[in-house]
Amino acid sequence: MSRTFHQLTSTRVNSRRLRYLKMAITLHSKSLPFPNSLFLRPLSSSRKIYVATATIHCFVSPSPAMDPQPSKKHVAVCGGGVIGVCTAYFLAKKGAAVTLIEKSSIACAASGKAGGFLALDWCDGGPLSSLARASFYLHRSLSEELNGPENYGYRPLTTLSLTVTESSSSKSSGNSNSILPSWVDGPAKSPRTIGSTETTAQVHPQLFTKTLLSKAVNDYNVEVVIGKVESVGVDEGGRAESVVLEGGRVIASEAVVLSLGPWSGKFEMLSSIFNVSGLKAHSIVLEPKEADAITPHALFLSYHPAQGGKPMDPEVYPRPTVGLLLSLHLGHGEVYLCGMSSEQEVPDDPETISGDPESIKVLKRVARTVSSHLGEAEARVKAEQACFLPCTEDSVPIIGEIPGIKGCYVGTGHSCWGILNGPATGAALAELVMDGHSSIVDLTRFSPARFVGHRKRVLT
Ligand SMILES: Cc1cc2nc3c(=O)[nH]c(=O)nc-3n(C[C@H](O)[C@H](O)[C@H](O)COP(=O)(O)OP(=O)(O)OC[C@H]3O[C@@H](n4cnc5c(N)ncnc54)[C@H](O)[C@@H]3O)c2cc1C
Repeated sequence: MSRTFHQLTSTRVNSRRLRYLKMAITLHSKSLPFPNSLFLRPLSSSRKIYVATATIHCFVSPSPAMDPQPSKKHVAVCGGGVIGVCTAYFLAKKGAAVTLIEKSSIACAASGKAGGFLALDWCDGGPLSSLARASFYLHRSLSEELNGPENYGYRPLTTLSLTVTESSSSKSSGNSNSILPSWVDGPAKSPRTIGSTETTAQVHPQLFTKTLLSKAVNDYNVEVVIGKVESVGVDEGGRAESVVLEGGRVIASEAVVLSLGPWSGKFEMLSSIFNVSGLKAHSIVLEPKEADAITPHALFLSYHPAQGGKPMDPEVYPRPTVGLLLSLHLGHGEVYLCGMSSEQEVPDDPETISGDPESIKVLKRVARTVSSHLGEAEARVKAEQACFLPCTEDSVPIIGEIPGIKGCYVGTGHSCWGILNGPATGAALAELVMDGHSSIVDLTRFSPARFVGHRKRVLT
């Protein structure tokens, strides 16, 4: 089965280890005026701030019931990507008093720029199988709870694999019996259905993350602080007791969750135990003039460039119109394309990550080759961007309590499946923090303890 980019990217590894620190210093925290804090870069001055944005409409089939705890446990969740936000949501729903700390803006990195493709069974047979299955169904129930179709474009999809040869003059092998939708009118061959509306779906990842956080803020009082986490404070008994922000501000907490995506590799407490590296991948978002012609079909391409260039595996995801535009009946559906990945150093500031012009050019060429609706004259370019997949040495996410530091947990390394696996990761971490074990997914395989024997050096 052609699971190209999603398969390849999950196998990239790297290695490096360091030490971990016990305490920290400096403080800083920035803040944003209500209600735009989810969407903008931080302004300076006031101390901390909170958010609320998307209206949440209906509550049909709530995600798993979480019994509130008698007294509120304060938990600091660090990192405002999909993993941090899902964790904050489920923790707060379970009765924790949660502070979410993000250094830039919510979903500013991969969680805002991903494809948002979800698959029930594509991880079957591997270590992610139960996580992915649980998460696929959690997405479905969250969509009912949060009005996903309207708020963040949740919808089931049909998914096809196909071969496209750029130099071929022939048009697609589409005919009245073909499974290819009519908008795929380029030189496409060998189309195959690799996912049905029962097994594949999509969300707009940035809107999903922000909608979930809005719910967490509005209904469960999650507090959002904009500031860079420099370290975790640990007491004499080896238990996490605070997080320390750039500039010196200390936020006391009884438990800490580190969900820093590819920046986990730059955080000493984590990089002393395992490596998380970044794989840079590119994407473009196009707004076709004839948006109504684009049907909900995700495409996994085996793409052969002209003149014998290296074959590529780009992915194409049409997305529906959502939110205000939908309610105003303004049908501006869009098409997201991604691919062109390479290992690169992750820059400190997520807002400075931009696409390499050559990679963007290639994606535009792929778009116009696949469909005449996606050529320059027929589609406006809405975004040209890049972001980093968080990759672990064994291609398995790291979810669990950090060995040797009680009350300090990590959720990272989700590679190309973080949007899919965010909800189950968040729900499992919430259970682990609040109850001491996870029932939704067995986290043994994901434990950071698996790296301990490999540690090269530990500084005291
Ligand atoms: C091109 C592309 C397409 C993808 N498509 C899909 C897809 O279709 N389906 C799917 O399931 N997955 C997909 N993924 C993967 C998915 O996007 C990632 O696995 C997921 O977003 C990782 O989420 P995260 O929360 O771990 O990390 P991130 O989204 O990187 O979030 C980490 C956050 O932590 C913050 N942070 C870092 N350091 C600090 C600090 N010291 N203090 C405070 N905050 C900090 C950052 O600013 C950032 O906001 C795709 C990824 C890419 C690149």
